[in-house]
Amino acid sequence: MTNELARLSVRSLPDVFAARRLGRELAAGLGLEHQDQVRVATALSEVSRSAVSLGQTAAITFAADENSLVLSVAVDGTPPADGIAAAARLMDVVAADEQVIRMSKRRPLHSTPDFPALTERLAAMLPESTLDELRRNNQDLIAALEDVTRQKEQLAALNAELQETNRGVMALYGELSEELEQTNRGVVALYRELDEKSEQLRAAAESKNRFWANISHELRSPLNSIIGLARLLADPDGGLDAEQSYQVELIRGAAATLLTMVNDLLDVAKAESGRYVVNPTEVGLPALLATLRGLMRPVTDGKPVEVVICAEDAPPTLLTDEMALTAILRNLLSNAVKYTDSGEVRVTARTLPGRVELQVSDTGTGIPAQEIERVFEEFYQVPGARRGGTGLGLPYARRLARLLGGELTLASDAGRGTTAVLSLPLKPAAEVSGVSA
Ligand code: ADP
Repeated sequence: MTNELARLSVRSLPDVFAARRLGRELAAGLGLEHQDQVRVATALSEVSRSAVSLGQTAAITFAADENSLVLSVAVDGTPPADGIAAAARLMDVVAADEQVIRMSKRRPLHSTPDFPALTERLAAMLPESTLDELRRNNQDLIAALEDVTRQKEQLAALNAELQETNRGVMALYGELSEELEQTNRGVVALYRELDEKSEQLRAAAESKNRFWANISHELRSPLNSIIGLARLLADPDGGLDAEQSYQVELIRGAAATLLTMVNDLLDVAKAESGRYVVNPTEVGLPALLATLRGLMRPVTDGKPVEVVICAEDAPPTLLTDEMALTAILRNLLSNAVKYTDSGEVRVTARTLPGRVELQVSDTGTGIPAQEIERVFEEFYQVPGARRGGTGLGLPYARRLARLLGGELTLASDAGRGTTAVLSLPLKPAAEVSGVSA
């Protein structure tokens, strides 16, 4: 049975080369030796070349049967004699009738060629016809042109979109720039106003402090004179009767209260104006607290209030301004005692990393939550809870605490008591030391 594997029409010289290549591939695929492969290729090449040179077309069929490689070449004319003669010397069998030349070459007995694969390989080697090639090229060209047209259209659409977007962006940019410019102008004006206002505030604060300082200073001498004179008049040998002594004592008391207020004003003005010079020294904290406790004893005024000092966790010494620290603690303690009718006032000192914390807690009236920060404002006193005083003690104490590099805060449970917390560094920061704050 003959197995046809490929066909080829040979009209030109390039076709002759293709016939030669296919012949050789067929021979190789059927397991023929190298020499025989060349023989088959040459025989085919000679037959087709001589046909083409006579202007004939040769239709070659490449095939194989059980024993041989089989080639048949049909020509549209008389088979070329020289081609047949050449082939006869190269192939095992060459037979020609009027139009067909049949040639065969024995193939190895035990070879088992892969016919489908061989058919595929031969098909891949077939030259395309010029028309086919032209058609394929044209199709490629048309596809490429269509592609180009499509891309051009997409590009045009994209460009249009881009232009539109650009116009939008430009418009938005213009709007934003204008808005930004306006906002900037507003911000600049606002800052100028703020600067002016801060300058005015600073000037006002300075005038206030200067006024306080001057007034206080001027008031202190006459007040001291009044107090001294009242004391002289109230002397038992002064010749006043009981009613007169009582009234003089009222005058002395009023003058003393006024002097306290004047002194407080002077202190606050000094602290605020920056004229307070912090002078750090080694302060023995337990001793200072004991002294303060002694000072407070008479102030309790017979009330059932115990002043307790817990200084076990206190650092033995603290590098700070002793006068300022004493003033702060005296203020806190006198407030605690003033606003506590019974119970205790406890001062606790403890060491924390890098700082000391002093708490003054009492079991007194307490401060409503909404008033906690207001009591640090000058002259502010909780409405309905006045017990004398000027409303200057806490602002002064906080001012001093900050001058020492620390902070003063309050916590309170209205009706149950208040805790003032003073937090101070164990030693002042380098730049604070000995410098006017
Ligand atoms: P002053 O005690 O002279 O009125 P301060 O500035 O020391 O002024 O205190 C302001 C206000 O804060 C006081 O009038 C008082 O209403 C409130 N206050 C301060 N300490 C206490 C306290 N320990 N308990 C209750 N209220 C307090």
